[in-house]
Amino acid sequence: MSTTGKRTEELIALDKLHVWHPFTQQKEWVSSEQLVIERGNGNYLFDTDGKKYLDGVSSLWVTVHGHRKREIDRAVREQLKKIAHTTLLGLSSVPSIELAAKLVKITPRGLNRVFYSDSGSTAVEIALKIAYQYWVEKGIKGKNRFITFTGAYHGDTLGSMGVGEIGPFVKKFNPLLKKHIRAPYPYCYRCPVKSNKKEYPECGTACLGDFERILEKHHEEAAACIIEPLVQGAAGMITSPPGFLKGVRRLTKKYGVLLIADEVAVGFGRTGKLFACEHEGVSPDIMALAKGITGGYLPLAATLTTEKIYRAFLGKYEDFKAFLHGHTYTGNPLGCAAAIANLNIFENDKVIEGIQPKIELLSTLLGELKEHKYVGDIRQRGLMVGIELVADKHAKEPFPTKERLGHAVCVKAREYGLIIRPLGDVIILMPPLSIKDAELKKIVRVVRDSINACIA
Ligand SMILES: *Cc1c(COP(=O)(O)O)cnc(C)c1O
Repeated sequence: MSTTGKRTEELIALDKLHVWHPFTQQKEWVSSEQLVIERGNGNYLFDTDGKKYLDGVSSLWVTVHGHRKREIDRAVREQLKKIAHTTLLGLSSVPSIELAAKLVKITPRGLNRVFYSDSGSTAVEIALKIAYQYWVEKGIKGKNRFITFTGAYHGDTLGSMGVGEIGPFVKKFNPLLKKHIRAPYPYCYRCPVKSNKKEYPECGTACLGDFERILEKHHEEAAACIIEPLVQGAAGMITSPPGFLKGVRRLTKKYGVLLIADEVAVGFGRTGKLFACEHEGVSPDIMALAKGITGGYLPLAATLTTEKIYRAFLGKYEDFKAFLHGHTYTGNPLGCAAAIANLNIFENDKVIEGIQPKIELLSTLLGELKEHKYVGDIRQRGLMVGIELVADKHAKEPFPTKERLGHAVCVKAREYGLIIRPLGDVIILMPPLSIKDAELKKIVRVVRDSINACIA
């Protein structure tokens, strides 16, 4: 990047002096070249030197209709003229009421109550606490663990991390975390069910059989099962086969265990429907939403529950059945105004219908990439994609961890004007729903060129 200006150099120097970046080995960060993003427009980001990049991962899975979307810009500006923040503790506010009513209308049937917070982690934390307290208030004792899946990611706070299982994220903190019950998620490319030797569908979804055995054994101590419906995002875009989610819903119901759908990543159109649960006609008991809820504008999250769960918390003040949880910025009006505008765009522009041909085009493009010598598996659901790189396709043998091939490929892609981020050796694509055909073609072409450049 030869055109680095003086201002950029100064900013980067200050960044390296003071900013501690998330999920980042700072020692490596300060010794490598960095980009400073200054503005965005549509599906593009611009750095401080004016260089343009395609936003291939929706600014970490949040941007929905592109940057500087006129309707959302306007909604936030209009709300600013009224008030930026007022609390939901002891008061209410116009946008938080209107958004709650809208969310109830568009989410799966039965979800009727909305509890706001500000990130995916807090949305999950709230879901877990509500599920636990629900059984306490019902007078049913001993339900104090959660059933979670292999490879799960639900956030970085202690509670949400406790139900996660991505080794490097969680392992070090194990002494601080409660031990939950782990069921196999259908990572079909590397099936986690030890007894299973067959491929899907010949396996008869053996993972569901395992899931039922776990429920049989543990249902009395399980308050809820938490799942990333259809796609486990942070695990590397692990897509579950048809019927798995539906099976999980059927079995949790059968054994009296609540189902929490963590739609933080998959919600708001990413999988080709507004919510992933819709693909299998599933209504969870609790649903966590964040990331795309404001169209990628502001930190806002929502945890939705059924009326039945909500009712368990009703009683006299002195019974202390209330849900004693809240965050200072809960239901922030600017965030809610952005979210309302985001949802209106879905409706007015028929966004879900509009992305169907794009999903098909992406699928065709990826079909060609699948033939690549070092591409082991490609998983796609809607506009969420994981491209798993392997050293030996036949043996599914990964590249040595310290080569950091996934990282190298994404750094290379920047030279070709594309911002993407890997998860290990899985190249992640998650373009905004506003992505255009030509841009999809460019993304897949750049990924191929970057892989070739790195392996050469
Ligand atoms: C990102 C993510 C979270 C955590 O959200 P934050 O806003 O980063 O706290 C939780 N669950 C899933 C499935 C996610 O992808």
